[in-house]
Amino acid sequence: MKLILLGAPGAGKGTLAAYLIDKMGVPSVSTGNILREAIKNKTALGLSAKQYMDAGQLVPDEVVIGMLRERIAQDDCKGGFILDGFPRTIPQAEALDTIAEIDCALSLEVPDEVIEARMTGRRVCLKCGATYHIVANPPKADGVCDKCGDGLHTRSDDKPDVVADRLATYHAQTEPLKGYYGAQGKLKSIDGTQGIEKTQGFAAAALGL
Ligand code: ADP
Ligand code: ADP
Ligand code: ZN
Repeated sequence: MKLILLGAPGAGKGTLAAYLIDKMGVPSVSTGNILREAIKNKTALGLSAKQYMDAGQLVPDEVVIGMLRERIAQDDCKGGFILDGFPRTIPQAEALDTIAEIDCALSLEVPDEVIEARMTGRRVCLKCGATYHIVANPPKADGVCDKCGDGLHTRSDDKPDVVADRLATYHAQTEPLKGYYGAQGKLKSIDGTQGIEKTQGFAAAALGL
């Protein structure tokens, strides 16, 4: 299956993707993780993307479309994939339609009021991309990734003022994708405000897993 996860920043896309990887037996592709890795490695892509990310804005379409195209052309994506954080604009969705036949866009519905607490408690592993929350999903040892043992970090764009800008960006540029995939008959929506396990159950039911 070729699945898109839609939802506001902090709605739980990465967390749900980690669960669905095992359930569906396909990899997840997070454009945010690819960009953060590029920033960490100080590549040209990273240097140009950082200014947009720190301002809560989207990286230009042509940059992320090229990045995504390369990633899903790799062998491990042949049998399907889960897209976490792509597409984020109508032009990205239109470009994706020329690259792959998407089966479903699953939208995690979480109101803005719930998002801030999720962001302030989020901790991420820059090495393997795993995501934690200090209350809802803590690592076994403080500040250490369960999966790879690397140190955990607070994302620089998870500060409350940047989160407000990211939510505005989401509503203006990404939320219209619900209409785009709705018109194609591919949109499914689930409640993302419940705990992590309940959200996994809603997703599995919606996807018939
Ligand atoms: P979140 O998981 O909180 O929604 P991401 O990790 O997906 O955040 O993205 C972090 C930032 O990376 C975004 O705010 C944006 O600047 C950039 N980014 C990630 N994916 C895309 C994309 N598909 N198009 C444009 N910018 C992107
Ligand atoms: P996204 O990829 O959409 O930005 P994440 O998966 O990184 O979102 O989740 C944002 C934060 O909220 C993380 O700290 C994560 O552990 C936590 N989280 C994810 N899903 C839930 C949930 N259903 N209930 C409570 N907290 C959650
Ligand atoms: Zn890790």
